[in-house]
Amino acid sequence: MSNLRYLENVVTLELDVEKCIGCGMCAVVCPHGVLEVEERKARIVERDACIECGACAGNCPVEALIVKAGVGCASAIINGWLTGEEPSCDCSGSC
Ligand code: SF4
Ligand code: SF4
Repeated sequence: MSNLRYLENVVTLELDVEKCIGCGMCAVVCPHGVLEVEERKARIVERDACIECGACAGNCPVEALIVKAGVGCASAIINGWLTGEEPSCDCSGSC
């Protein structure tokens, strides 16, 4: 599952490296190996594998991560898979 990738360049995940204190919680809770911590700073290593679940942002003690959990194209695609319906995210009508 961790090698699964979705649409490219649609993920809302943002990392403010200046705020990061290197605690490693984001890398621990991320189910898809999107984040790693090196030299006490987090970095995004697999952006397109992010499912916008929000776990990283919810567990970051300094709000260094921002992600629009449960919205957007990635969420729409997943909901489409789960429901068997045509994916729709209302962003631009392009997916
Ligand atoms: S939103 Fe979820 S999948 Fe994406 S980086 Fe954060 S924990 Fe990983
Ligand atoms: S949870 Fe936040 S502070 Fe901790 S390593 Fe990740 S981004 Fe940095």
